[in-house]
Amino acid sequence: MPKDHILIVEDEDDIRGLIKYNLEREGYTVSDVPTGEEGLRICADRQPDLLILDLMLPGMDGLEVCKSVRNDPELRNIRVIILTAKGEEPDIVTGLELGADDYITKPFRPRVLIARVKAVLRRGVGEETSNEEAIIEREGLKIHPGRHEVAVDGEVIDLTYTEFKILHLLAKRPGWVFTRYQIVDAVRGEDHPVSDRSVDVQIVGLRKKLKSAADLIETVRGVGYRFRE
Ligand code: CA
Repeated sequence: MPKDHILIVEDEDDIRGLIKYNLEREGYTVSDVPTGEEGLRICADRQPDLLILDLMLPGMDGLEVCKSVRNDPELRNIRVIILTAKGEEPDIVTGLELGADDYITKPFRPRVLIARVKAVLRRGVGEETSNEEAIIEREGLKIHPGRHEVAVDGEVIDLTYTEFKILHLLAKRPGWVFTRYQIVDAVRGEDHPVSDRSVDVQIVGLRKKLKSAADLIETVRGVGYRFRE
């Protein structure tokens, strides 16, 4: 099976070179360009499996590139990891809400980069819809979607409907960061209104009830929440 094709869009030569070097060493096919315009062209021509996308680019910025990729039915399945500098959390949030799969903050260690790339490539596109009813078990926590039931260390705990929905949403995709808005959006579908601020309140309540399993829900500062990978 041929190794995945990864496209790097980054205007800083040193960083682009560093990423390329490390990915090629892992056996990936790598293309790299310094601008978003060129990146989109390669996406259209060659449809890479993964796009590593810097947000601060001259000309078209990374968020615009991400939006274009996600809005194009031909390119929609390309996975996207955005690259940001420290302190750009609002852009990370926007990027995730535009459909980026993950993000990496600069400076990063090559080992972390490779781990993220592998994790994102491993996640099948749309996999979360196929296992809606699957029982999830992690370190003493058991989620039974069919019964809407959660147990910690064998003891069933009493969650509200919204708490259950949030926990299940996060746990279905370990390692994925969900922004507050994405959580609200996912839960709201069932006519249970929650505001993005009330997500924090829900999480506090949820962690309290989860007791020993509480640390499975991680806070990603300035961005949102995720279920530990
Ligand atoms: Ca840049």
